Amino acid sequence: MTAPPKEYRGRLAPSPTGLLHLGHARTFWSAYERARDADGVLILRDEDLDTQRARADCAAAMTEDLRWLGISWQEGPDVGGVFGPYRQSERYGLYRDAWERLRAGGRIYPCSCSRRELAASVSAPHEDEGARGGVQDDDEPIYTGRCRPAAGAVAKAREPAGVNWRFRVSDGEQIRFKDSGAGDESYVAGRDFGDFVVWRRDDVPAYQLACVVDDAAMRITEVVRGADLLKSTARQILLYRALGLMPPGWHHCPLLRDRTGQRLAKRTDALSLRALRERGLTPPEVRAMWQRE
Ligand code: GLU
Repeated sequence: MTAPPKEYRGRLAPSPTGLLHLGHARTFWSAYERARDADGVLILRDEDLDTQRARADCAAAMTEDLRWLGISWQEGPDVGGVFGPYRQSERYGLYRDAWERLRAGGRIYPCSCSRRELAASVSAPHEDEGARGGVQDDDEPIYTGRCRPAAGAVAKAREPAGVNWRFRVSDGEQIRFKDSGAGDESYVAGRDFGDFVVWRRDDVPAYQLACVVDDAAMRITEVVRGADLLKSTARQILLYRALGLMPPGWHHCPLLRDRTGQRLAKRTDALSLRALRERGLTPPEVRAMWQRE
């Protein structure tokens, strides 16, 4: 393990799949403030691995909207930096090395289960506890274990492509972490999540793996993101451990909801930064909105 960097390094990691809305803006503003208050560095990383949904025009709009809001960063696709490239689509080799280490260590296995079971793996699984109290979960379902081999088996493969790869969790293991926003968190492997996908048969690394590889390689000291990704943090802690990497600190922000309890992410249209800006709102007025919403 490498020694932690002395300076605070935070990141903004949007997926360019649509316009930024007020909910994103609040989380990114927190990330910006935490880096600024710590006299640290903020990184913009374009999480464009989901080739079916990522769009270059959305990435450009995101950058512009963030700047308009008053957020600035010191490293990113538009400004460069020593830990680049800052677009995930240009970082395949790093993910591939991590896949190889996990494979050689017997931590992952090939899985030939159906496409439906794998649908959610490339994008970050944003949980949504909706107004009706039910959890509408974008998360991948808990895996049945159909393709799970005997413990310690090392899959013989030179290439990840052609089959899906899952990380084997220890059923019943408790994963605890301190969150500077949400407090003490605890999840149980095999109950809160199962063996999760780290690589897809179409040769795309899954969100969980790409995020860990990049946050570690970019020497991120604190991850600031929405509370809907807490369960992903538990999974990612297992990946840090399996890869011998030092995990960052965690700060999960509460999600913005409307009066009916619906998460604002579901209402990107009316509350996109673009729409608010077109209505004539200024950045301070937009920032004041998340106190009210
Ligand atoms: N690209 C992911 C998203 O927008 C990032 C999640 C994270 O911050 O780790 O949902």
